[in-house]
Amino acid sequence: MITTAIFPGRYVQGAGALAQLGDELARLGSQALVLQDPFVAEHFGEQLKTILAGKLDCHKEVFSSECCDEEIERLVALARQRGVDVVAGIGGGKTADTAKAVADALKAPVAIVPTLASTDAPCSALSVIYTATGEFKRYLLLPRNPDLILVDTAIIAKAPARFLVAGIGDALATWFEAEDCRASGANNMSGRPGPATAYGLARMCYELIMKYGPLAVTACEQQVVTPALERVVEANTLLSGLGFESGGLAAAHAIHNGLTVLPETHHYWHGEKVAFGVLAMLMLTNREPELIDEVYTLCEDVGLPTTLAALGLGEADDAALMRAAEAACAAGETIHNEPFPVAPRQVLAALKVADAYGRSRLGGCCHGE
Ligand SMILES: [Zn+2]
Repeated sequence: MITTAIFPGRYVQGAGALAQLGDELARLGSQALVLQDPFVAEHFGEQLKTILAGKLDCHKEVFSSECCDEEIERLVALARQRGVDVVAGIGGGKTADTAKAVADALKAPVAIVPTLASTDAPCSALSVIYTATGEFKRYLLLPRNPDLILVDTAIIAKAPARFLVAGIGDALATWFEAEDCRASGANNMSGRPGPATAYGLARMCYELIMKYGPLAVTACEQQVVTPALERVVEANTLLSGLGFESGGLAAAHAIHNGLTVLPETHHYWHGEKVAFGVLAMLMLTNREPELIDEVYTLCEDVGLPTTLAALGLGEADDAALMRAAEAACAAGETIHNEPFPVAPRQVLAALKVADAYGRSRLGGCCHGE
């Protein structure tokens, strides 16, 4: 059997790490296109000028539109005109995905500077492309991962804590999904099974968020950087990214995708829906009761949803939940990476019992009367 793991080239993290961006970018090129989202341009624009001055030539662009083919083509043309040999994306997920796609078209290295720790996307060799009006269009699979990820935890700590919490939800899925892919021999994102390294990193991701998750959220609420926050940001961004790309996805992300067919869930973030997908996955795959309680406790402590009502689905009936369950089991979905065949009725049962157990733990009644 041939296994494959994929990694970003360099990972830099810490309070004040942004000050290193000039030196880090200069390792990759001499003429940079620096894409900033409007928030970054407003709050860090001046600071970035100082940081990059004298390190390399930069053209700064404010990214305000969608990660769509039109915007990518515009930026590629601009970059070609200016002889750009390295691209940087500073901001949220769409800024990062656009920077990755532009760099890929230019065959240039790319640096990602995430300003949130809300998903594990920054490290990945993947961009999600939308239409100009914001509908999902396609996945762009990139031939390699970003060359640099630079995370300034002082910036992460200043963002609303809900972003970090959502990132914990996304990271919570990593070990369970990788573990089931290992058990079934399923492929990871490279199209081959992962090596032992991937499963080990996925486990470390789980251990860090279990141990430090609540303390990290408390630090973020106080807008301060602590060792606990550093560890959770690393788990959310790096370990979760390595774990899912090289370990593989399974039921939790498929259930997330299923939940998105219900419009009530659209106000909730990726990691929040993934977290409930994890709870349903634990029921579906018959995990040990002690382990299930440990995961519910973490979700309750950090504020991740443990009931359908917490995802806007308090009124959802069995027919609606069945639509989500069927979407989760669509052909090609990662739920089929589980070590046993999964049908929609099992997912429906898992959703209902995950919700009822969550309600009973919160003091509600789980018997339906
Ligand atoms: Zn995810």
